[in-house]
Amino acid sequence: QAPPPVVHYQMTNLTASADPVGNRETVLILTPMTRFYQGYWDNLLKLSYPHELISLGFITPKTREGNAATAALQEQINKVQSGSKGKRFASVTILRQDTEIPLQSQDEAERHKMENQKMRRAAMSKARNSLLFTTLGPTTSWVLWLDADIVETPASLIQDLAAHDKPVIVPNCFQRYYNDEKKAMDVRPYDFNSWIDSQTAQILAAKMDNDDILLEGYRELPTYRTLMAYMADSNQDLHAEVQLDGVGGTALLVKADVHRDGAMFPPFSFYHLIETEGFAKMASRLGWKSWGLPNYFVYHFNE
Ligand code: GDP
Ligand code: MN
Repeated sequence: QAPPPVVHYQMTNLTASADPVGNRETVLILTPMTRFYQGYWDNLLKLSYPHELISLGFITPKTREGNAATAALQEQINKVQSGSKGKRFASVTILRQDTEIPLQSQDEAERHKMENQKMRRAAMSKARNSLLFTTLGPTTSWVLWLDADIVETPASLIQDLAAHDKPVIVPNCFQRYYNDEKKAMDVRPYDFNSWIDSQTAQILAAKMDNDDILLEGYRELPTYRTLMAYMADSNQDLHAEVQLDGVGGTALLVKADVHRDGAMFPPFSFYHLIETEGFAKMASRLGWKSWGLPNYFVYHFNE
């Protein structure tokens, strides 16, 4: 019997362009998931990018919560993958995490305590890296990072972000909430990890021990960075671009070549940055710039 044929991939023919649908580019949507949110799933199904060009990858922790999320996810996947052909995704992968889970409690207040951040974000980095290195394929053009608690995006999210033709691009992540003063629903910034660096932060970093990290959005550690969260103006151009030094990962579109070059999520202090902010730094060291869209919104679940 003949040995199996060798498969050749011409990587120069693999594009990641401003017209990804026209060029039939494949997108890998990656989601680290501790809880299953129906809003996330419903929004995912509504994405107008051709589903046959989308592969999905999930990583769930091996905890009781992670087990429940996996079961809920599996049920929804079964439904869509056995439903109408036009809605089916090219492939779906679920990884069960093998790394330690540092924190039991995952409620918002506990997650955001400063002393918990380094350990928590190191664990999230490992989950992201493990998901990325296991699922990135030779035909992947784009990677869309999408957190499990992003419950609302425009249906044209992928096309809209890709149209900017940037190596790394991040929309502004806000949260809907009930404003007691206005007695009405309102929006507020959620993700503070997309920023332009400041000299104050540079000086702070220079004085730190090797293993220490800078964190954004904590009163105890003022960085005076320019935060994309506060640059939002819904009356201005939806597609206004700003160059960034740090990015958040709640929704983040990356050309797969950036990851192929080796840009990952450092689970350790990298230039005193960690996880998605460290990723932007690593991409930058590899010659890839990060961009943000301050007036283009996605929405995080509100606990
Ligand atoms: P926050 O919104 O910045 O507070 O961060 P989240 O707690 O929402 O975490 C970001 C994303 O990673 C979400 O999709 C979570 O479900 C997921 N996540 C958080 N911690 C872990 C973990 O330990 N393992 C895995 N697999 N996913 C995680
Ligand atoms: Mn979240």
